[in-house]
Amino acid sequence: MLINVPPYLFAEIDKKKAELMRNGADIVDLGIGDPDTPTPKRIINKFHKAVDDPKNHNYPPYEGIAPFRAAVAQWYKKRFNVDLDPEREVLSLIGSKEGIAHIFPAFVDPGDLTLVPDPGYPVYKMGTLIAGGTPHPVPLLKDNDFLPDLDSIDKGAVKKAKLLFINYPNNPTAAVAGRDFLEKAVSFCRKNDLLLCSDLAYSEVCFDGYKPMSIMEIPGAKDVAIEFHSLSKTYNMTGWRIGMAVGSNEAIQALSVIKTNIDSGIFKAIQIAGIEALSGGEKEIDRMNKLYMERRDALIDGLNDLGWELEYTKATFYVWAPVPKGYTSASFVSHLLEKTGVLVVPGSGYGKYGEGYFRASITIDRSRIIEAISRMKKQGISYK
Ligand SMILES: *Cc1c(COP(=O)(O)O)cnc(C)c1O
Repeated sequence: MLINVPPYLFAEIDKKKAELMRNGADIVDLGIGDPDTPTPKRIINKFHKAVDDPKNHNYPPYEGIAPFRAAVAQWYKKRFNVDLDPEREVLSLIGSKEGIAHIFPAFVDPGDLTLVPDPGYPVYKMGTLIAGGTPHPVPLLKDNDFLPDLDSIDKGAVKKAKLLFINYPNNPTAAVAGRDFLEKAVSFCRKNDLLLCSDLAYSEVCFDGYKPMSIMEIPGAKDVAIEFHSLSKTYNMTGWRIGMAVGSNEAIQALSVIKTNIDSGIFKAIQIAGIEALSGGEKEIDRMNKLYMERRDALIDGLNDLGWELEYTKATFYVWAPVPKGYTSASFVSHLLEKTGVLVVPGSGYGKYGEGYFRASITIDRSRIIEAISRMKKQGISYK
């Protein structure tokens, strides 16, 4: 088998968690990156109607029904003031993870490199390996605000690379990128003949008035970039499996070729629910973000009381924090779990540059976050 996956880290934590639960422990799970509130009712109602209609029961078109692609284009226009041709520049995805995984076989041949963020969403690296390519990790370091330093990437690696992945707002670091960086990424990819892949899963999970940008807002981006987005995080629809790719017609077409040979699209009733999702919901999103902000404040204030020095995050539902001195990511996560029943994710699970960090999620009730902090305090866990 070509893939040498290191599952042991997460497997070991899962084992420990299961053991603690068997012994009746009350686990506060800050490890999950999945919204804990339901899909808005208006979307569910639309789905119910659509599922009853036999017209929606047969194979959907591969690229997505025309009204869904039009709704995506309209949403991009309204949200980012970006013009997209729904027929040439929009493609439906079975969740953005599916599209991200399939961009690799579309562009990467054995021997090719990909430039992927480290720490990063694991699919960038695994997708590369499955396609027979070699992931070249681009470090996201605190000193550079968790943005890749594009100029310092090894020139030989850039030459052999086919694409660069960026993901802002970022999972797992919660970092955000400004226009400057996005412009730089577009020109870097143009100059080096790379496909720029932007993962925008968290564009609507944002706080304190901050609004993330789409890469498509940068002039010329459409020539070099594809952007992956989804309804998962925005509308609490992770289980529905619906997302979209937009941008470069060449990239959209290449991705379509792979997809038409593997899947047969998204259930039409889900696409109809997706149209409903995209055509409204500002108030729901504001309400969700307010809820996340209260939890974020509870977690960050709580950790800072224990000695951390974290800034309030601007987006995503994650907090990325250094582990106390004397610990590795894995040993701190184990220690925390054993002492307090609080579960977080070791940063090293997202790549070697994630070592020394842990990720905590705010997709859990504020009262549970407060409980986690109070247990840590009781056990004398602090950042030193
Ligand atoms: C959640 C997530 C996705 C994928 O979400 P889908 O449900 O597959 O649309 C993609 N990228 C990042 C960084 C994520 O955190």
